[in-house]
Amino acid sequence: MIIAERKPFKEIAAAVAPYDKILIVGCGTCVAVCLAGGEKEVGLLASQLKLAAGLKHRRIEVGEITVERQCDLEFLEPLCDFVADFDAIISMACGAGVQFLAHMCHFKPIFPAVDTTFIGVNNAVGYYTERCRACRRCYLGLTGGICPVTMCPKGLLNGPCGGTLNGKCEVDLQKDCAWSKIYQRLELEGRLDNLKEIVPLHPHSRGTTPGTVIHPAYRRRYGVDE
Ligand code: SF4
Ligand code: SF4
Repeated sequence: MIIAERKPFKEIAAAVAPYDKILIVGCGTCVAVCLAGGEKEVGLLASQLKLAAGLKHRRIEVGEITVERQCDLEFLEPLCDFVADFDAIISMACGAGVQFLAHMCHFKPIFPAVDTTFIGVNNAVGYYTERCRACRRCYLGLTGGICPVTMCPKGLLNGPCGGTLNGKCEVDLQKDCAWSKIYQRLELEGRLDNLKEIVPLHPHSRGTTPGTVIHPAYRRRYGVDE
């Protein structure tokens, strides 16, 4: 899932200070799970904005709505009419959701209320760790399910480097060396031979941005050559 963190209130409040009718749009999926931008966080932000305006003797209108996924056209289309009544929008989705909302709801200033942090896992309530950088060529089959791109600060595909010490990473001794973990895991799986394989340079040319993926079954529909 996408992990995000709420921006400081001061930053959000400053961004929408010129507007009197503000719509806050939450997202009910990843950012709701990581307690950054779901329905509850929308309500909290709305209360903060109204309270702050009241303290300055200003009257503002703050609308609240949370859609299931802001990164999905199906859920955004019905929002467009609703948005028309407001001067500005605050999106509490990840960066993809904010951009999709901006694309759909033309001409309304839009402001993010969260910082999109990483693709990670939900270990427990309020505790998330990064697991993937969406590198577009997954090596987990070779590395025992441990991502060298994400877990090694140098992103080494043929590790370890010369700095690993007692299983710790030279860049941050608080953290395990990714390649030591990979070694241990492959040893347990009886697959140490994987380490004899030299992984070629990562095909960064596949990573030009923005990326597009069209499922093979839909190529004809979207006019893409087979
Ligand atoms: S190798 Fe790592 S960064 Fe690349 S796709 Fe797999 S998990 Fe994600
Ligand atoms: S010590 Fe391990 S995790 Fe740290 S940079 Fe070197 S190979 Fe990567």
